[in-house]
Amino acid sequence: MLFFNKLDNPADFWKHLRFHFNRGRGHQLRFLWNRVRWHLYPALGLAGHYPDHVDIELSAACNMRCPMCYTTTARFKREVPHVLFDFELYKRVIDELAANGVYSIRLSWRGEPTVHPRFMDCVRYAHEKGIREIDSLTNCLKLTPEMFAELVDMQVAWLTISFDGTGETYEKIRAPAKFDEAVAKIRRFHEIKKEKGSVKPVVRLQGVWPAIAEDPERYFSTFESIVDEISVNSLLDYLRKDETFQYVPDFVCPVPFQRLVLGSDGRAFMCINDEMGQVCVGDAHKETIHDIWNGSKMAEARRAQLEKRGVKTYEPCKVCYLARKTVQKPYKVGNRTIMLEELEGRTMVVGK
Ligand code: SF4
Repeated sequence: MLFFNKLDNPADFWKHLRFHFNRGRGHQLRFLWNRVRWHLYPALGLAGHYPDHVDIELSAACNMRCPMCYTTTARFKREVPHVLFDFELYKRVIDELAANGVYSIRLSWRGEPTVHPRFMDCVRYAHEKGIREIDSLTNCLKLTPEMFAELVDMQVAWLTISFDGTGETYEKIRAPAKFDEAVAKIRRFHEIKKEKGSVKPVVRLQGVWPAIAEDPERYFSTFESIVDEISVNSLLDYLRKDETFQYVPDFVCPVPFQRLVLGSDGRAFMCINDEMGQVCVGDAHKETIHDIWNGSKMAEARRAQLEKRGVKTYEPCKVCYLARKTVQKPYKVGNRTIMLEELEGRTMVVGK
């Protein structure tokens, strides 16, 4: 199930393949093995001794207030602790992951990772410990060209930049960022990679379709030559306003077999789509990642999926986009047709 356009046009298809080829540069065989495990293990109902991937939330807080984002809701502010990931705990976690061959980490979850004053130290530490794939997701406001240059030197695998729309639309959604400055910065990132003769980090730009739709030609023409991939995303129900849900029959979710997520307070959760932190499966302050991953709560999360009762059992699954039925809708942008998977019954309006 795709919620973005990447495979629907030949040029985008090749870009997408190149994106992933370049992402694994330097350790292609390990990358391929990781991709095989990623898809095969959930299909077989298996989980390794360690997750293939760990998401580490450096900060639950964000320096933007995008109207479609769950971090702006009263519930999120009330229920999610807004703390920074403790650096000593981070080092302990990375030591364990590196010693046990965990392939990849993402330094991001709900908030903006670069607001953590030790963001670069976190990347450096994981790099020094030999984590093969490090990636992050950022709104780019605090990421400077100097920081980016160091990410290139460390051969960070990839970076996703959230960028909704162009001009005033972008500035309205992503205040206090300024469109021209943000584009200039991303162009500079592209130049830095060229100057250093590096394809990494591969850069993916992502935005929600209703924002891009206001001037899609401008969006694509601005970014096509300076990023590695553009993902046009459906606007999901991040604000939890949908009231009726149509589910994929017999849905089995692969996520609890693939990855573990640590919130910025050190607690572990079943899933990255549990953004309110309703299903806590452990605490990295008190347990090892091995014990959390192999503990009874993760085992039950996997069992619920295999028995096709995830949606009936877990609150986050009940409202999760992955479990919901979609319809495919085509949108024309110049010569390109964007095929979006949209949630059935969902109105895609920013803030709704
Ligand atoms: S919340 Fe969504 S992604 Fe997470 S386990 Fe449930 S269905 Fe899967």
